[in-house]
Amino acid sequence: LTEISQFLENSKTSITGQEGIKPIMTFQEGELPEALLAQFESCKYSTPTTIQSISWPVAMSGKDVVAIACTGSGKTLSYLLPLLIHISKQQPVTLGQGPVGIIIVPTRELAKQITFDCNKFGKCLDIRTVCIYGGNGRQFQIKDLEVAPQLVVCTPGRLLDFLESGVLNLKRCTFVVVDEGDRMMDMGFGPQLKKVLSQVRPDRQCFMCTATWPATLSELSAEYLNSPVYLNVGSVE
Ligand code: ADP
Ligand code: MG
Repeated sequence: LTEISQFLENSKTSITGQEGIKPIMTFQEGELPEALLAQFESCKYSTPTTIQSISWPVAMSGKDVVAIACTGSGKTLSYLLPLLIHISKQQPVTLGQGPVGIIIVPTRELAKQITFDCNKFGKCLDIRTVCIYGGNGRQFQIKDLEVAPQLVVCTPGRLLDFLESGVLNLKRCTFVVVDEGDRMMDMGFGPQLKKVLSQVRPDRQCFMCTATWPATLSELSAEYLNSPVYLNVGSVE
């Protein structure tokens, strides 16, 4: 335990909402699928980053997570790994059922970038990811959804458009990620985010990622997340 408190202190990390978390300090001790380990190796990643070390055991235990850590700290994999493992344990998704997981992001660039990671790490688990975002390409995205993805990466406006027009449904959705939550609020997506979250079954798991912790986001998280564990790396205010 002293070793763990030393690790948390050295990385200026605080955990609120759960006691006795054992960080996953190496890829080997996480009991991760072989295929994922091989992928980490080919990426030349040597160890998990701090936010990954602590978010993985919490998120893999099924709890809601708020991860506050600066840009470049490896937040994508902090939620993506638990999400991919969650999806790989579910029944296959057939056409029309809707995804098991959604990742909501503020911009199309970010949506594309994260879709790239989803494919890189999800491919080896046979997880199909589709990316949907605003602007051109609505018809192409509708066509893309014909692969019956288990995972959808989306911007809030296009997601709501697809939900409202029946192109997509969230009946099977049990894991929601909100990435760049602070930017989402800055860009005025709060109301749309709330609308989406209120359409997902209440017993879903939710993972909120952010670089800063504005009051607007803390209020939204308090309202829509279910007793989340708060992870703060680097004492972000
Ligand atoms: P954030 O979302 O916190 O800004 P990202 O998830 O985009 O950070 O990761 C930042 C960079 O770190 C990316 O280039 C990613 O490939 C790399 N990275 C992620 N996890 C690890 C790791 N465990 N070891 C080494 N590099 C990593
Ligand atoms: Mg990020």
